[in-house]
Amino acid sequence: MSALFPDYRPTWESDDHRLLREHARAFFAKEMTPNQERWAEQKYVDRETWRRTGEAGLLLLDVPEEYGGQGGDAAMEYLVTEELIYSLDTAFGMGVGSTITPHYVMNYGSEEQKKAWLPRIASGEWIAAIAMTEPGAGSDLQGVRTTARRDGDEYVINGSKTFISNGGSADFVVVVAKTDPEAGHRGMSLFAVTADTPGFERGRVLEKIGRHGADTAELFFNDMRVPAANLLGGEEGQGFYQLMNQLPRERLAIAVDAVSMAEAAVLQTIDYVKERGAFGKTVFDFQNTKHELAYCKTEVYTAKVFVDHCVQLDVDGRLDATTASMAKLKATEMLDDVVDRCLQLFGGYGYMMEYPIAQMYAAARVMRIYGGTNEIMKELIARSL
Ligand SMILES: Cc1cc2nc3c(=O)[nH]c(=O)nc-3n(C[C@H](O)[C@H](O)[C@H](O)COP(=O)(O)OP(=O)(O)OC[C@H]3O[C@@H](n4cnc5c(N)ncnc54)[C@H](O)[C@@H]3O)c2cc1C
Repeated sequence: MSALFPDYRPTWESDDHRLLREHARAFFAKEMTPNQERWAEQKYVDRETWRRTGEAGLLLLDVPEEYGGQGGDAAMEYLVTEELIYSLDTAFGMGVGSTITPHYVMNYGSEEQKKAWLPRIASGEWIAAIAMTEPGAGSDLQGVRTTARRDGDEYVINGSKTFISNGGSADFVVVVAKTDPEAGHRGMSLFAVTADTPGFERGRVLEKIGRHGADTAELFFNDMRVPAANLLGGEEGQGFYQLMNQLPRERLAIAVDAVSMAEAAVLQTIDYVKERGAFGKTVFDFQNTKHELAYCKTEVYTAKVFVDHCVQLDVDGRLDATTASMAKLKATEMLDDVVDRCLQLFGGYGYMMEYPIAQMYAAARVMRIYGGTNEIMKELIARSL
């Protein structure tokens, strides 16, 4: 149940989903909310938190039980994301570690790899990440310069990555590399790499304007030798197509994040303005405040219904790239607008990092950038016109 829309029920939500929601809500309230400040100071989330989240059965929800997952549907993954955001978390890299990266193994790993790797990610023993972006190539993924050269039963990987979520602590990374640098997107391949591989090095945990508790980092690969079997899909040159197939899920996950954060921002603001006094009344009593919040609530609701429609499409196996891009575009633009209006209603306190609204404002901004920028979303959507 959404606290802002108590009577709203998405088409995909069954009683089982509701029970899971209650469980996730209680767990995140205890594990996430109280730790935000400490994580922001240390610039990473405790490894123990991943283990506890795994023990609570909140990772890899739609991965079959035989691979350590919960055997649920895609909606479970998204609803747990909603609950994480409602807990006012801006640090825990669950999207990348659970919703996104493991699915590359699920879809392109061999039976043996799935059995070896997924249970360790599901239990929280391993933290997972995906490394696409490089200093010289972000939107233009075909421009990646990391190479993977076959040498006997191994590939030798060289290159560098940046802005990698969970990068500071990841144990398991899906790496985008060129197996044929001359072949454009047809020369791209994905490799599963464990962080204990010689030649795997971490750079800085990057200083961001928000999400200070998230260990977004640089990675370097120096003559890193990985078994040839770690080429996902077992065939060179499939990487670009594998990414194109998986990115809609990443974009929908970001859209779910964005709508949930906008809901949380409006709720925080309603509470604040009803307490805060000015000119002998509460800030809520001003017509401007009510109109701003009425507008925000309407914006959040319309985006939420569309995003839930996309969740239903994903559950039904019908989510396409265009629709997922529209969800990401709409939800993240809406969030920036809503969180900015909400922050304004806090006055100067809205600018103070100790207030969750300030943390959300900073955390929201990157959603228009990562997972493919919103300009790239428009490019993708435009192809359908
Ligand atoms: C906090 C954070 C976490 C991240 N996590 C990850 C991660 O886990 N893994 C990972 O691989 N990456 C990650 N990224 C990287 C992110 O996906 C890229 O930053 C993003 O794709 C944009 O790439 P870029 O930064 O190189 O910008 P550029 O590609 O250099 O873009 C610069 C500007 O040019 C615009 N532009 C580019 N091409 C076009 C075009 N064709 N038409 C119109 N405009 C265009 C862009 O929209 C943007 O406004 C993360 C980034 C951040 C900030």
